[in-house]
Amino acid sequence: MSKDLFSAAGFYEFVEEKKLMGTKCKSCGELFLPPRPMCSACHGEEMEWVEMGGKGKLEAFTVTLYGPTRMVEAGYGPKNPYCVGIVRMDEGPAISAQILGLDLSKPEEIEVGTPMQLTFINRTEGEKEVTFVGFEAA
Ligand SMILES: [Zn+2]
Repeated sequence: MSKDLFSAAGFYEFVEEKKLMGTKCKSCGELFLPPRPMCSACHGEEMEWVEMGGKGKLEAFTVTLYGPTRMVEAGYGPKNPYCVGIVRMDEGPAISAQILGLDLSKPEEIEVGTPMQLTFINRTEGEKEVTFVGFEAA
């Protein structure tokens, strides 16, 4: 079970179950997202999984016209751009993810601080159905 490792692999197993999980240091309570096996605050190695509530705020974003192949294959491109942002969770840590529900034709009107709600994006990559973390303007 990768979930025992407090690693990226464990993180993605939870994402497949549509759960956004961070790790919390048992010594000092610091939260990490994506998870880390070791605490960068106190160097503690005792971690536990903590599920994020799913609410946060947009902290930074970019609108991408020319994405990597997997995004082009998903139908994104200059005529259908997508947005990737950093969302600061209410619990404290921040995560980078695709942002849905914004008017990307007017990126100058997108505001940092916009409330965000966790969602999950399913995409077929090759022959596999893959689940990604995403956020939607709340
Ligand atoms: Zn710690």
